[in-house]
Amino acid sequence: MNLKAFIRDIDNFPQEGVIFKDITPLLADAKAMQYTLDRLLEMVGDVKIDKVVGMESRGFFFAPLLAQRLNAGFIPVRKPGKLPAEKTSQTYDLEYGTDTLEIHSDAILTGEKILVHDDVLATGGTAKATCDLIKRLGGEIVQCNFLIELDFLKGRSKLGETDVKALLNY
Ligand code: 5GP
Repeated sequence: MNLKAFIRDIDNFPQEGVIFKDITPLLADAKAMQYTLDRLLEMVGDVKIDKVVGMESRGFFFAPLLAQRLNAGFIPVRKPGKLPAEKTSQTYDLEYGTDTLEIHSDAILTGEKILVHDDVLATGGTAKATCDLIKRLGGEIVQCNFLIELDFLKGRSKLGETDVKALLNY
């Protein structure tokens, strides 16, 4: 199945000069969703995963589905002020300014095997901050798993030795 046919470019979103990859046509198509989920699972392979961590908000589409199929738990990483219980925060640099992500401090136990999933790997700031949170809680990252990698932004260079896999590259 040609999944790229289900992803559309939106010019100048969310700001001037950005070409945004809109995955909502893929989400709207049952067969494309199922095919995508199967391929994302193939990228993980036959390894034990305890928890799947998904990032707000587009990481939440596939991460819980992956977790179900892997017989793993789902852990949300959220923007500041959204999580109710004790949390761990990580701030990271953007082109202009900084951003912060949070995880519940009891969400991951030392030594647990973690799959990280998000829809898009762009500059890698989101994924790097998420990996830092997981490592601070003692989790072992098995793979960072993406639907789309924007190669020209070189996000994977921020993720060091971590196994980084994407289904579609641009
Ligand atoms: P990064 O931190 O790697 O620069 O950006 C990745 C985050 O921004 C992801 O959480 C992703 O959802 C969002 N993102 C950045 N660019 C795009 C895009 O073109 N399309 C979509 N769907 N999300 C994007």
